[in-house]
Amino acid sequence: MTTFQSLGLGDVFLQAIADLGFQQPSEVQQKTIPLLLQQETDIVSLAQTGTGKTAAFGFPMLQKINIESRTTQGLILSPTRELCLQITQELKLYGKYLKGLNVVAIYGGASITDQARQIKNGAQIIVATPGRMKDMIGRGMIDISKIEYCVLDEADEMLNMGFYEDITEILSYSPQDKNTWLFSATMPKEVATIAREFMHQPQEITVGAKNVGASSVTHEYYTVAARDRYQALKRLADAHPDIFSVVFCRTKRDTQKVAEMLIEDGYNAAALHGDLSQNQRDLVMKSFRSRQIQMLVATDVAARGIDVDDITHVINYQLPDEIETYTHRSGRTGRAGKTGVSMVIISKSEARKIKAIEKIIQKSFVPKEIPSGIEICEKQLFHLASNIAQTEINHEIDPYLPAIGEVLKDFDKDELIKKFFSVEFSRFFNYYKKSKDLNVPHGTVQEGSSGSEKSENSVRYFINLGRKDGLAWMDLKDLVREVTGLGKDEVFHVDTMDTFSFFNTDAAHEKRVNETFQGVFFHDRAIEIERSDDRGSRGKFKGGKGSVKKSKKGKSFGGDRRGNSDFESSGRPKRGKKQESTTSFKGKSRRRGERPDVPGTRGKRRRR
Ligand code: ADP
Ligand code: MG
Repeated sequence: MTTFQSLGLGDVFLQAIADLGFQQPSEVQQKTIPLLLQQETDIVSLAQTGTGKTAAFGFPMLQKINIESRTTQGLILSPTRELCLQITQELKLYGKYLKGLNVVAIYGGASITDQARQIKNGAQIIVATPGRMKDMIGRGMIDISKIEYCVLDEADEMLNMGFYEDITEILSYSPQDKNTWLFSATMPKEVATIAREFMHQPQEITVGAKNVGASSVTHEYYTVAARDRYQALKRLADAHPDIFSVVFCRTKRDTQKVAEMLIEDGYNAAALHGDLSQNQRDLVMKSFRSRQIQMLVATDVAARGIDVDDITHVINYQLPDEIETYTHRSGRTGRAGKTGVSMVIISKSEARKIKAIEKIIQKSFVPKEIPSGIEICEKQLFHLASNIAQTEINHEIDPYLPAIGEVLKDFDKDELIKKFFSVEFSRFFNYYKKSKDLNVPHGTVQEGSSGSEKSENSVRYFINLGRKDGLAWMDLKDLVREVTGLGKDEVFHVDTMDTFSFFNTDAAHEKRVNETFQGVFFHDRAIEIERSDDRGSRGKFKGGKGSVKKSKKGKSFGGDRRGNSDFESSGRPKRGKKQESTTSFKGKSRRRGERPDVPGTRGKRRRR
């Protein structure tokens, strides 16, 4: 067994480690700490979330800096304020026996003058988010010209969030001969580029297979008709009464909507997305950490840096646009040696995405069934029974016992139990007793939900919008649905290219598609739709830019639509400014009325 003692750390650190209760160095720590202590080298270290990377770079940095000096010697860049604060806190714990250590966190949304003052007091180590850091360097508040060590933590996330330019600029103020230590969960080509451009012959450390999701996470998927998605979510939650979860949605609007519906249905839920103020986000995170919230509904961007251990389930209410993002999502659970479950709710047409994700995580998904109403009732009953068994008796009740006993004197124990459970349980049971099976059997077509099976009778369209317009396939599908008013399953085989895309609908909807798209604009540009010869067989698209037909200029519409899109694509911060409006592309919101019919279960799940 490898011990912390054998890694070459000084006594002050071994003492701190003992205080923290760390028994044994994790794999990334075993591989990284001795290397960084012994050599002045650049490294690229690839390891999943929750594997202990902070300590892997933290201890070597703390041991190598000169604590007598007040010069800034180490810089750690990390993607979010939460992570920034967390790293700072950890470093302080790791270095608690280092007299004179000053670690300062630099991040947006807090007073810049306060932060500048802390820096002035002499910080040997600065932990910063790129945006605020760049700002403060620009204002001459921070000098990093003497740093010896620079950590790029969660490099993939920082690049995902569009910090490439900021990082480049920050590094240009740092010395050439510093050591750069890059940490990342995944190794997309952008990270490889950073390694090539900013690092000198970095040594590579890989923990586990590259890109592999944390092994303590089980991956499950549930196939349901798209319209049953929300019902499915509720059942998954109900089947796990102790759930403590992050529910991922693709857009801010869906995030808000799903959270509101859950709250209305009596769940301890809240939304976390970019439209909330920092203050609101802090409050939500605080409630989540203290378990007042059991279901945190979040966008990918907002969920970055959620660093809460013990999350039992990650629920992918919708799959992310970019499947690589799935790794980040599922990495929120199964942290710090615990096990976790990542559940994905898909509609039939998304099965191919599961295959693609399996390739990335190099693990198989377990196909699972949404539990039936009866199963859920059973689960809840036993949960209630075990809760009762574990509840400590409140003796304030004692004085009232004789009177209560009088009221209940005619019932024996069994009857009392039954009555008691009925009080707690009837509403719940009534809700589920007539519930239907939500599972879509494999290999059969559900009525009304047309997946790929309908291609015989479907029409393929070309549309002059694509990824360059900031639209991933799901966004495009949403857009088509908003304009045409078609249902989730009625628009399928959506394939987005750079400047154009394809989608299919049932042949019966062709007229509707053509008519509703007349005169619709996207950011000042007329949307053009035309029938494509391609049947939707992936991979052999005909035409390209050249096949765009002349615009048949329809009626002008809406003026400047810029910024009205509320699609929050994961990974790519939306261009343009956000606006309050959630106007859809034609000015009418089809989202209204789309809300599934949810029988009231209010009060079923109250705050404990
Ligand atoms: P990462 O940066 O890889 O996502 P962290 O550095 O945030 O992971 O560590 C995750 C959690 O594991 C933290 O709570 C940390 O205190 C804890 N931890 C780190 N190293 C060890 C260890 N050797 N033994 C036990 N717990 C550890
Ligand atoms: Mg980390």
